[in-house]
Order: sequence, then structure tokens, then C-alpha cells
Amino acid sequence: MFRFFRNLFEALLVELKLKKSSNRVVTIQYPDQIQDYPSRFRGRHRLTLNERGEIKCTSCFLCSTACPAKCIYIEPAEHPDPEVEKFPHRYEIDTLLCIYCGFCVEACPVDAIRMDTGLHPEIYRTNPNEFIEDKETLMLRSLILEKYGVEALRKFHLEKMKKYETNELRFMP
Ligand code: SF4
Ligand code: SF4
Repeated sequence: MFRFFRNLFEALLVELKLKKSSNRVVTIQYPDQIQDYPSRFRGRHRLTLNERGEIKCTSCFLCSTACPAKCIYIEPAEHPDPEVEKFPHRYEIDTLLCIYCGFCVEACPVDAIRMDTGLHPEIYRTNPNEFIEDKETLMLRSLILEKYGVEALRKFHLEKMKKYETNELRFMP
């Protein structure tokens, strides 16, 4: 009982900003407070871009074949550039089915998919279709990460989550 009230008192001091931090308070106020994840943390996916800012993926299907959850959907198309054989006209990951094993990243021969965003899944939506991440969403992550860095990507993600919480955003941008 003593420990409960002592820890509660310390948590209140931290909350009221009368104390910077406390070793006794182990919970954090996510998403306002964020802990750094280890470098090996498998975050949400991104599709990487080449030097021209185009999608690197060549629609080889190796990631979707390796995926144990069968949650990657690819629709290939002929690329207008004859040097490039194919590209994904449609590339989607159903993150509700995904088990974040990283097999897709390991299977990709051209480093076109990564899980180094440091973002973890959104788990509170009610419409299952909103868990499906499309090509544009996955490419946008790479664009923000490469142009503005991981902090900007995290901020973008958190802003979006807060909008979901307040119902300002109904569908993925
Ligand atoms: S992390 Fe695993 S389950 Fe998720 S898309 Fe990649 S291979 Fe599939
Ligand atoms: S992400 Fe990589 S493994 Fe998957 S289809 Fe594209 S190129 Fe192939």
C-alpha cells in the first residue's frame, strides 16, 4: 500500500512537471511521450524509392511468396521505361493480417521494402479496410523519411493518429 501511494505521488509530480522523471514510474504517456525503439525493431513497412524518386519494386512477387500471412497483394504492370521490366501498379499490405515477421524484407532482392520506420501499428480502428496500406502510403513514408528524417516521419504518424482519435480523419491519406 505504501509503495502504491509513493509511486502515485511521484507520478503526479512528474505529470505536474514538478519533477523531471522518476525511476519508479515505468509507464509513459504515449503518444505524447515516446521511448526510443532498438534499431532492430520491425516497424511499419515502407516501399523504398530510387534516385529518381520512383518506386524500386520490380513486382517480382518474392515478398508475397515469402509472406506467411499472405497479406501482400501486388498487381504488376509494364513500365514505360524499356530499361525497367515491371513495376507494381498496385501494392498493398493488409496490416491487420501482418505478423511483422520481416520475411518480406529478407526476401526482396532489390531492397525495395523495409521496416525501419520505427512506427508501430495502429490497432484501434473499427473498419478492417482501413488497415490496408496502399502503395502511395508506403512510398510516402520513404519520401518523408529520406527527405526530413525519422523524427518528421514519427511526427506525421502521430498527428495522423491523433486525428483518428478525434475522428477528424476517416480514411488514410
Ligand atoms: S512482415 Fe511478415 S507477415 Fe508482414 S507483410 Fe512482411 S512477410 Fe508478411
Ligand atoms: S518488394 Fe521486393 S520482393 Fe516484393 S515484389 Fe517488390 S521487388 Fe519483389
